[in-house]
Amino acid sequence: MSRVLFWILLVGLVVLAIRAKLKGLAARQQPPLHEEPREQKPAAQIESMTQCAHCGIHFPASEAVQADGHDYCSPGHVRLPPQ
Ligand SMILES: [Zn+2]
Repeated sequence: MSRVLFWILLVGLVVLAIRAKLKGLAARQQPPLHEEPREQKPAAQIESMTQCAHCGIHFPASEAVQADGHDYCSPGHVRLPPQ
């Protein structure tokens, strides 16, 4: 009789272990769904463009040389008048 109890207990533990494992896998598979907004972050980091006040060329705003409220493509164009 104790053998039967042993096997019932063993099967119960195996079932619990499998359930815990499946929950762990489900928990691992859910984060990618939550990470989707992270994948959209690079799109939000798209750099804005600006135009040189002298020659009119478009370039990333982070590379702009700002003077007198205008954006210039290079320090050399800062000295030249806006067109
Ligand atoms: Zn320029």
